[in-house]
Amino acid sequence: MSNANAKILFGVVVTFTIVMMLVIGSSFPNVALSSSHHKNKSSSHISSSTGGAATSTSNSGVSNLNGFNNQSSSSPLYSAPSPPGFSSGFNNSGGLASNNKLVMIGFDDSYKSQILYAKPILDKYGFKASFFEVCTWIGKTKDRQTWQDVAALQHDGMDIESHTMTHAHLPTLLSSPSQLTYEIGGSKQCLANHGVNATIFGYPLNLGSDIPSIVNVVAKYYNLARSGSAPLMFLNCNGFGKQPQTDCSTYSANGKLTYANRYDIKSDSFRHVDSNHNYSPSQEFPQFVQRMNSQIPYNTNGKINAIPIVTYHNLTNSMQDYNMMASTITVDLFAQEMKYLHDNGFRVLLLNQLGYDPNNNVFDIKNVPLSTYGTTTNATTLVRAPS
Ligand SMILES: [Zn+2]
Repeated sequence: MSNANAKILFGVVVTFTIVMMLVIGSSFPNVALSSSHHKNKSSSHISSSTGGAATSTSNSGVSNLNGFNNQSSSSPLYSAPSPPGFSSGFNNSGGLASNNKLVMIGFDDSYKSQILYAKPILDKYGFKASFFEVCTWIGKTKDRQTWQDVAALQHDGMDIESHTMTHAHLPTLLSSPSQLTYEIGGSKQCLANHGVNATIFGYPLNLGSDIPSIVNVVAKYYNLARSGSAPLMFLNCNGFGKQPQTDCSTYSANGKLTYANRYDIKSDSFRHVDSNHNYSPSQEFPQFVQRMNSQIPYNTNGKINAIPIVTYHNLTNSMQDYNMMASTITVDLFAQEMKYLHDNGFRVLLLNQLGYDPNNNVFDIKNVPLSTYGTTTNATTLVRAPS
């Protein structure tokens, strides 16, 4: 071997070694803290609808969550601080704060694109998500999921929940209680017929959560319900600014439905087009980053008080479709967002990991390994729902 060749070989070996060190090193922070917790849905039962304020709840499976519960209940009237001038610097992923970054990811409307495009990306990062299915849309057209898709999602630890029978706009059905029952209760039964025990209801177009006669029906069949539209869900319901609440009671003292409660969990549907803006995917990404990080000021000292709950709809590779449908996201942008969550240590939870404490009227989080709290790990948590 010539001297020159030896030098080249040496260079190759050194480079290879460095690359391998980087690869090995970078894999450690991503050790999945898999938990095999199974949500115990079987014990959740249909609650009385008296006044819409159901009192029964399933607290099973919550015993390992004392970190959350204690932290919440030790300051039941947690008053949300004003964010301390947090506007930039979201790339700061080190330190304690990164352990308090959570997100819940939901998909509405049974789009096939969620299976084709979103699922492989979720799988790549070990993320689990909640799918709100419209029962009569399943298997109906090519652009929607099949029941086999739904079964496969459930088998893979995804959370399957209800989004009515026909995506009806519930306030239009007020004069027809039987129609309301069909949409709300019927969809629970429809999913049950296919082996899914849905305990969370999603209001189509976020409509109806402010109408007592609708909420009463929802409360009859579900433990919780999700609507929109806020960047963060506050577990004590007390951070919503213009909607002051001291807890998550369904009704306020004056007998009116509250802004946020167990039947009105706030999620964030990104609409890239609305009356004020029309964002391209590259303009949309910083919005996502900002909203994901807006929880940081509220989740300090190991306490979780706020979680962004993101709701996706259709995914597309076509800019034409993206521009046409306000809630459609491009596959590239979705991939970029999931990568961001992964690379920045966000922990992805399922919506059915939200529990409700009817004694203190606050939410708590089920099945999160406490060992990851208060430590400096930046690990992605694999949370498994029932298989
Ligand atoms: Zn919908």
